[in-house]
Amino acid sequence: MQAEQKTPAAWDELLERLGEVADLRGAGALAHWDQATLLPSGAAQGRGHMLGTLSKLAHEKFIDERLATLLGECADFAEENLAEGDDFPQQLLATTRREYDRATRVPSEFEARFAAHSALIYSVWEEARSESNFQKVAPLLEKTLDLSRELAGFFPHDHIADPLIDMSDTGETVQSIRAVFAPLREQLVPLVREVASRPVASSAPLHGDFSMDAQKDFAVEAVKAIGYDWTRGRMDFSAHPFMTKFAPDDVRITVRGDEEFGELFFSALHEAGHALYEQNIARRFGRTPLDSGTSSGVHESQSRLWENLVGRSNSFWNYWFPRAQAQFPSLRDFTQSEFVAAINVVKRSLTRTESDELTYNLHVLIRFDLELEMLEGKLAIQDLPAAWNARYESDLGLTPPDDARGCLQDVHWFSGTIGGAFQGYTLGNILAAQLFESAQDALGDLDSQFARGQYSPLREWLTQNVHRYGAGLLPRELVVQATGRSLELTPYLNYLRHKFAA
Ligand code: ZN
Repeated sequence: MQAEQKTPAAWDELLERLGEVADLRGAGALAHWDQATLLPSGAAQGRGHMLGTLSKLAHEKFIDERLATLLGECADFAEENLAEGDDFPQQLLATTRREYDRATRVPSEFEARFAAHSALIYSVWEEARSESNFQKVAPLLEKTLDLSRELAGFFPHDHIADPLIDMSDTGETVQSIRAVFAPLREQLVPLVREVASRPVASSAPLHGDFSMDAQKDFAVEAVKAIGYDWTRGRMDFSAHPFMTKFAPDDVRITVRGDEEFGELFFSALHEAGHALYEQNIARRFGRTPLDSGTSSGVHESQSRLWENLVGRSNSFWNYWFPRAQAQFPSLRDFTQSEFVAAINVVKRSLTRTESDELTYNLHVLIRFDLELEMLEGKLAIQDLPAAWNARYESDLGLTPPDDARGCLQDVHWFSGTIGGAFQGYTLGNILAAQLFESAQDALGDLDSQFARGQYSPLREWLTQNVHRYGAGLLPRELVVQATGRSLELTPYLNYLRHKFAA
């Protein structure tokens, strides 16, 4: 009788080591979550040390040469499993190798220099933004540009921004993204002009009596209905909403809001969309690098899908509007269509984070193009405010009155690299529509399901086609597997036209 195949010792040791790295990263995420939700204001310095130590330990453990040896020793085992139809070991090796390569190419000396610079520019940026004084932060931003180029230089590349993009959207390049973004801009600019020139719906339904407690209760119900597992998560308030994961069974979300209806509810749906992804990754991927979403673009497709394609649709409110009226009596003065119009108002604005579903991408495209020009050496930091304002003028027809509402508004360039941070938002919007279209083809009339408060067919389709793969498939592979096609603009443009140009 043939002996049962034994798991090699190298595989067990690999899983053990990766598990320890995952635990250290989880502890860091927990310390960060606590900092963002509960930490006493005087405790920031100690928390900074704690976060630094946890991240250093995780990094050192991960770049240990022993890990490279184990990856090599497990190659045959992965091949054998693949031949028998189990691709888990092979996916784990590929993903871990890619992460290991990234982590070891960048010298620790550079990491330390970059971390120190990021902390400095962040604090100066906060002042510069409140004073609307670009010059105050400009010399440090020059340094960020140098450091971003230096970081990219540790990796082979065609375009200097490619490695920076690849870090959050693996496999994407300047070329592949431009091929999607350029035609998107061509279509969006005139569409926004057309839609924004019409009379704006009244936002009166959103200005009634909306206490934060009642809004939170309402959001909890909706987030439960779309399938967020409360036994493995929780929801708290923070200055900036986010989703975080400490372990497969501990995926948390935070929200923010005020006494107007909208921000709290939609930030809850958005973050719950991220959380559904993380809660539904295959269980065997736990404590490995596969136990996370595969890219920022795919992650954003999940949050945007629930926030916008579901949560801002009329059919969703067929079910929820009567419940909202019961919860918030001021809504009884309005019809559902007045309410749905109010949560879908299109208005050109200067601020990305306050922009609507239609104009949002124009804000992203402006940032993406400008950061490429900076990295290419075509745009000097000194000329950034003027270039920024010129693009707002041409694409949105608005001129920022000052740099605080212009190029100083987003934290990204002032706390991380120039390059790599923005494209995922728009890739996510595009992909959300493509996935939604495929889900609709498979599941029939989603609108009538939403109108009955049924979301499990859609959520299960997403788990089956997106969530369960975790980081095991590259974003492009995932898109083809889930929709049968590469990433394409048509479903998104159709969705926007149908919703906003109608
Ligand atoms: Zn998001």
